Amino acid sequence: MVIVFPKDGAGVASLDSVVDYVNRGLVQERSKLRVLSGAYNFKGIALSMNQVPTTAGELAIISLWAGKAYPSKPTDLLAEIPKSQSYLKLSDAPFLESDGTKLTVQRFQAILSSSVATQGILLAGPPRVVRNSPTSDTCSVFFNIWDSQQGLTTAQLIGRSLMVLGRAIYIRGSTPQIGSPQCDRCWKWSHVSRRCPSKGSVCPRCAGPHREEHHRVLAVCCKGNPKVNPPVQATPVDAPCPHTARCLNCGSSHPANSRRCIFFNHRFDGDWIRGRYAALQDPSQVSGRPSRRQRSNSPPQASGSGRVA
Ligand SMILES: [Zn+2]
Ligand SMILES: [Zn+2]
Ligand SMILES: [Zn+2]
Ligand SMILES: [Zn+2]
Repeated sequence: MVIVFPKDGAGVASLDSVVDYVNRGLVQERSKLRVLSGAYNFKGIALSMNQVPTTAGELAIISLWAGKAYPSKPTDLLAEIPKSQSYLKLSDAPFLESDGTKLTVQRFQAILSSSVATQGILLAGPPRVVRNSPTSDTCSVFFNIWDSQQGLTTAQLIGRSLMVLGRAIYIRGSTPQIGSPQCDRCWKWSHVSRRCPSKGSVCPRCAGPHREEHHRVLAVCCKGNPKVNPPVQATPVDAPCPHTARCLNCGSSHPANSRRCIFFNHRFDGDWIRGRYAALQDPSQVSGRPSRRQRSNSPPQASGSGRVA
């Protein structure tokens, strides 16, 4: 993808004419590049290409020929490959409508594409809607967009508001949402097994002191007990544990490595995970080393621009 930015006063060009001119230029210059389609992207136009331009010469052709589509024929159009992703979020956005309808990712994408503030932004992946708790009526929404190296789009977006289920919510900068790691030894979040404080492996199904593959032979639920009356049958060797798992992080009936877990849902929100462990007074998770994400963010983004080149 290439984004071209005409300067103010260049006039207005239709998408089709920009695509046509640039393709004409590419043919004339014997380039194998082609523009497949164009889309408005704030003050610029985003061009989807059949290949990524690899030389400054190719970008110069695109810049020169895109300019021919504008009334003032500018020769100083900026054409660049969006290399930076910007990280944006909405905090405390409504999650539920009065009729109980939830804010889904599809719904949020529809809001983004129909709002004046965000029409034409290029999402760098699906947005994430993270409900603040299983019973909360608010959520955080994270969305990453492609931007120019100068962050032109982000600069215009931060501080603008979006109507989300009837409430105006300001767009804020965020930090890169590097997922919080989950330890595959003790199944707690926000550390990796290398730094695991646990004495030994913990089972994600039952939180017992064994690895998951030994659950069937060691777990109370599966190993059986012939001495009681009636005897408890052991789970057959080749069968998975048929008993209800208990998540050692959230207490619900799924294994700790389940994607249904609320911790998994919040894996991009280290603050939420730390807060949850703090509430559970689990000192091994709230004190000590800062998480990788915290350290990688230093110095903190004082500007709050939300942009990382
Ligand atoms: Zn661990
Ligand atoms: Zn187990
Ligand atoms: Zn079992
Ligand atoms: Zn859980």
